[in-house]
Amino acid sequence: MSDGIGLAETLLGLPGFRVLEVVEGDVEVVITIETTAAWAHCRSCGVRAEPQDRMTVDVRDLACFGRPARLRWIKRRWRCRESLCPARTWTETSEHVDAQMVLTRRAGVEACRQVGENARPVSQLADELGVSWWTIMNAVVEHGTPLVDDPDRIGVVRQLGVDETSFLAANRYHPTIYATGLIDLERHVVIDMVEGNSAADLRRWTANADPLWLAGITVVATDLAESFRAGLSPHLDHTRRVADPFHVVRVGNRCVDQVRRRVQNETLGHRGRKRDPLYRIRKLLLTGSERLDQRGSDRMLLGLRVGDPNDELLGAWLAKESVRDVYLADNPADAATLLDKAVVACAADDVAEVRSLGNTLASWRSEILAHHDTGASNGPTEGLNLCVKKVKRCGHGFRSWEHYRLRVLLHAGGITWPERKKPTRIRTRSPHSDA
Ligand SMILES: [Zn+2]
Repeated sequence: MSDGIGLAETLLGLPGFRVLEVVEGDVEVVITIETTAAWAHCRSCGVRAEPQDRMTVDVRDLACFGRPARLRWIKRRWRCRESLCPARTWTETSEHVDAQMVLTRRAGVEACRQVGENARPVSQLADELGVSWWTIMNAVVEHGTPLVDDPDRIGVVRQLGVDETSFLAANRYHPTIYATGLIDLERHVVIDMVEGNSAADLRRWTANADPLWLAGITVVATDLAESFRAGLSPHLDHTRRVADPFHVVRVGNRCVDQVRRRVQNETLGHRGRKRDPLYRIRKLLLTGSERLDQRGSDRMLLGLRVGDPNDELLGAWLAKESVRDVYLADNPADAATLLDKAVVACAADDVAEVRSLGNTLASWRSEILAHHDTGASNGPTEGLNLCVKKVKRCGHGFRSWEHYRLRVLLHAGGITWPERKKPTRIRTRSPHSDA
């Protein structure tokens, strides 16, 4: 059957196989193959085996010139001639096709890479290759798990970020389920994902981590969540805690929003509508004053004059700005002075929401100021949250936590994917012809 020069085998690229036939169907190319093995020895007694019969196994392989490919492997079955040998018959195996698998090994590895590295939907690959969703997902688990579990994936971590993301939105059966991401703030990779966002969830993870590895961590950046502060204890008590600037500013913004909604409701008796003065300036209120131009700040002040008769919202806005000012300070001493001023001003405010903001700031004082010493922030974490969300979106809602964790780590966990050599580039030809 062979063409004598191995053209088909070169195209197939599976060492140890011979191509018997290639048939092009409507939707796929069927390549019939057999191994080049001419003889075999019994694995049990070592006697030379004798051919028994053949069986056909169909597996999916990588697409062939843009068409789905089906390998039809005519497997040999061997028989041991020794009457006392327990081996009797067996079928041949290949490193390229795992037993009971629908995908060749190389197709499984590629599917894992597409789903992991490129965050592509499992269903898309299943359609493309012509296999079931589970076949692809199993390949992702099989080839992806060793990459995620590789002890070299996470080296020494000095700055750890802890941040929550939502895993499953609330529905009739359960409230929103959260996940906690652990991030290496220097390398910008997700170290692990923990199900849940409680102190106990975080503590369970640190309890299982290598104490030597934990000892290498010097800084931990979190949002202003008491659960995280509690969860870092006792295993990370030796670290410097930093409140992430992004989240500190967000607490100020949330205060502004709360007061705006309440004042809106009290003055007009309904929730914000398009033409309401406070609703119209809701975004300006959250913009940093240094980024407001004259027109913007005029509009904002006008909106406040009309919609905020008791200057409650103005007070909240000033408090929010005083929080932002802490981060504009150049040195730790100035930052401390500004933060203390902000706390005192908030405590003296008439508005309950602002006083509560002051309490939060006071409670997190040392963590907030630690940012100025360490420079640590979850800035990179927020970028990684986008990656996490991307994985989530393409999964169209996960049901399995383990699958979710695996896919997030494959995508954003600093995986070293097997190197793929780049072919030399074929350059664009100029349009003229010299014929
Ligand atoms: Zn034998």
